[in-house]
Amino acid sequence: MEIRIRGVSKHYYSEGKTIKALDEVNLTIPANKIFTLLGPSGSGKTTLLRCIVGLELPDTGEISIGDELVWSKEKNISIPPEKRGLGMVFQTYAIWPHMNVFDNVAYPLQVRKLPRDAIRESVAKTLRFVQLEGFERRPATKLSGGQQQRVALARALVAEPKVILFDEPLSNLDAKLREETRKELRAFLGKLQITAVYVTHDRVEALALSDSIAVMRAGRIIETGTPKKIYFDADHRFVADFIGRANLVKATVRAQEDGHTVVDSVLGRIVCQRRDIAIGSEATLCIRPEFIRIVEGAAQARSNRVNGRIESLVFVGEAYEAEIRAGGELLLAKIDPEAKLNEGDAVSFTLDPAHCLLVAI
Ligand code: ADP
Ligand code: MG
Repeated sequence: MEIRIRGVSKHYYSEGKTIKALDEVNLTIPANKIFTLLGPSGSGKTTLLRCIVGLELPDTGEISIGDELVWSKEKNISIPPEKRGLGMVFQTYAIWPHMNVFDNVAYPLQVRKLPRDAIRESVAKTLRFVQLEGFERRPATKLSGGQQQRVALARALVAEPKVILFDEPLSNLDAKLREETRKELRAFLGKLQITAVYVTHDRVEALALSDSIAVMRAGRIIETGTPKKIYFDADHRFVADFIGRANLVKATVRAQEDGHTVVDSVLGRIVCQRRDIAIGSEATLCIRPEFIRIVEGAAQARSNRVNGRIESLVFVGEAYEAEIRAGGELLLAKIDPEAKLNEGDAVSFTLDPAHCLLVAI
């Protein structure tokens, strides 16, 4: 089910101050995909999710879910949360510790006063789906963190919602479990064919889980795209910087040629992925650490070849993280863990034009 958000703003008033939590948000969330709202803390992600659910009422605008208008300031429409047909998984203590697994999952159906047999059948089906068959009588507190998350997921799914929403559901799990649970969730959601809206501030989680990502900042949607588009080909400096580690270098556009945009910077003349930016304009050159390639020996002059010196070198297992001073800039580079390099070494590196991204300043 598609979700359409038009002109939605939301202010909070606290201690005599006005906080603009959402600023004219326009967004279409496609049906049956995993859509992620990604942004730093305080950017308005939870507020937007709560407006979709109906737990928060916007000041302006319209929200529709499928064909149904669930909120309209102008038309004075406000469908209550329980009539919106949604399931939700929250960040903290998503399950009730005093209940067993069955009662936790059955709760939304018991509230609706469904017949007991129907409840038992739906709960069994949902527990089978999240691979918790046989755990019905287990007290919720006797489950691992990952199993508790699956109970929370089962409870959100048991009433067969049209849309499922998640607010940082993995943030209380430790790193390894978070990775496993993320994979499981991706598999579960893939099988379900349901519209999923997922909120996180964790860029890796967003990249790994999503079909599409909307990056938020200060109550606004800055950019929307597939994980690859957002990571490799962002239009905005904020997005490029937020989604991954990035070296950002000031540049001036000098030429558009052969499908590339050529800039001058403190790193010298750099051939970049093509962008429609006028010659003479300022832009920001964005280079991810993994695309800085150290070249050995006095190789022939190639384009995008830069000289520098290694200022620091840290072994992190799968790579060295090096800081390379070049043209006055300190660049972070990820390099081969077997490279024979030392701090203080003079090095040359190349930059693949396909991974030299120009973003607006
Ligand atoms: P996020 O989920 O991206 O961290 P939120 O939607 O929770 O962001 O918050 C957006 C902004 O609104 C923040 O500045 C936050 O402090 C403020 N805010 C959120 N909820 C309330 C509230 N109930 N009262 C006052 N301010 C709030
Ligand atoms: Mg939040």
